[in-house]
Amino acid sequence: MHTETLEAINVKLPLQQSEELYTVKARGGRWTAVERQEAVVVSSEHLPIQGLSFDELKTTALLDLEGKVMLPGFVDAHMHLDKAYSLPWVRNRSGTLLEAIENYRAASPAFTKEMIRDRIVKAALSSASFGSAVLRSHLDVPVHMGREMAMRTIEAALEAREKVSEIVDIQYFPMFFYDPAYERELTEFASETLRMGIDGIGGAPHLSPNPETNVGWAFRLAQLFDKPIDLHTDESDNPDMKTIDIYCDYVKAGGYGGRATAGHLCSLSAMEHNEAERLIAKMADAGIAAVTLPAVNLYLQGRGDRGNVRRGVTRVRELEEAGVTIAAASDNIQDPFHPFGRGDLLQIGLMTAYAAHLAKEEDIVTVLRLLTTNPAKLAGLTQYGIAPGNPASFVVLDACSEEELFQELPSSRWVYNKSKWTFASMLSRFGLEPSVSGSLV
Ligand SMILES: [Zn+2]
Repeated sequence: MHTETLEAINVKLPLQQSEELYTVKARGGRWTAVERQEAVVVSSEHLPIQGLSFDELKTTALLDLEGKVMLPGFVDAHMHLDKAYSLPWVRNRSGTLLEAIENYRAASPAFTKEMIRDRIVKAALSSASFGSAVLRSHLDVPVHMGREMAMRTIEAALEAREKVSEIVDIQYFPMFFYDPAYERELTEFASETLRMGIDGIGGAPHLSPNPETNVGWAFRLAQLFDKPIDLHTDESDNPDMKTIDIYCDYVKAGGYGGRATAGHLCSLSAMEHNEAERLIAKMADAGIAAVTLPAVNLYLQGRGDRGNVRRGVTRVRELEEAGVTIAAASDNIQDPFHPFGRGDLLQIGLMTAYAAHLAKEEDIVTVLRLLTTNPAKLAGLTQYGIAPGNPASFVVLDACSEEELFQELPSSRWVYNKSKWTFASMLSRFGLEPSVSGSLV
């Protein structure tokens, strides 16, 4: 049985912007105290976390973290769990976004609901084992290829969410591919999914035959159902691709600041600096959040370039400095859009540090915020972070400083969420509850 109370001494909390050590206490899955220590606490009653078996960990109320880093559970704000691990079935010879979309579409009819559900469960559990507590996943729902096929993914997603609900939370944003020729069917389908418990409206207007009408349609639906909106935006090397401009207008006019997110924003990095600055200021003013997906965009973008290859990663530092809420996220895992990845946000943080030139000491804390507090804010989590009253959702990593996190990418992690320890990776990568371990594929 898990203990009702938990106390950990000698904890490093990098997000507190302090070099000190802390004592943290929780009861019934909520933080009750976060206290700064004067010095290292020596206590024979507190057991070092390193070396405890998973069963011992669950029954130990007093822990000594010996200076290890604790972070609030990561929030992976942009994933495609339904496509994860589909690479053996769907390849991508050119490495371009368009071929990935085409090949995935061609393979989709053969994916059963069970296959999709199991892929989502596996990707969600892998992410949780690395320390993520909340995931936001887009879903592929090509209604124009048949309603049944699109609904298969929605049903698989809802079943998967139920299966992992004691371990990790998932938000779903189906990508509604708008085409005026299918507007009636699409609106009907989207409305039904929202009634079924889908969390918000997704899409990729820059790929639509009519981007402006697409953004308008998505907004009307979001407002009608009072749901947040999260659009793939300008995932292109073309500097003239600027659907973000229209998106900002709608967010501002509809008072949707704080409930609207733009993912990718690759063209923002390709365009001339003054124009990018104008759009970034417009985003800050409208209150649109941004998500950078460095792994996938380093893989997919710049494929037409020779020599000085564009990297496709948006202007992270400029967005951050302008006051835009910006997160870094996994995007695709082992599928035609990205052959690598494992749902480990620390790995994504390291890539962000390289790709966005965020590597000074103070930048490291910025990178950590891109994985924690910023995505928590855009995902609408109101009680987030290691502070009294909030849910005790956290990951302990085998590193003694924020820099060491990215230097060592520690594989030893201890994850606590939903009033219990869910993983202890040093001891058993998948320290799963029995009900869930049976569903691993
Ligand atoms: Zn995406």
